Amino acid sequence: MITDAADDPLDAPDLGPCCVCGGLEDVQTIVMLDKKAPIAGTGWGCVVCDLPSDGAVAVVCDLCAAAFESVSDPPFQYAVSGWPGAGGRVPIGELQGTHAHDLTKHPESALEFQDHDPEVQYFDDGDE
Ligand SMILES: [Zn+2]
Ligand SMILES: [Zn+2]
Repeated sequence: MITDAADDPLDAPDLGPCCVCGGLEDVQTIVMLDKKAPIAGTGWGCVVCDLPSDGAVAVVCDLCAAAFESVSDPPFQYAVSGWPGAGGRVPIGELQGTHAHDLTKHPESALEFQDHDPEVQYFDDGDE
């Protein structure tokens, strides 16, 4: 593999075309989708709840990210297929399944189980 670093004046990783407008400029934002990636193992996962790296992602350019900042669900045309920089895309509607955190395994949702003082208490049998 030949890497021509001089060709890439920016330090930012090349994420390929924006999944909203298809533009190639300033694509720097990766959005995690709650669907399965077209190619298992090339998406997002979670070590906390043991989610495999099979979650679909979309990438967004700065212009689209700014335009849709207040929208929780940008109008994606495409989702990433494979690694973002490789440029593979599939129509967003082709994504299958559901990919979401198992919140019962996340510390933030486990907090309610930690009401008690975690200090270990030793009970001396002092009544001898
Ligand atoms: Zn865009
Ligand atoms: Zn998780």
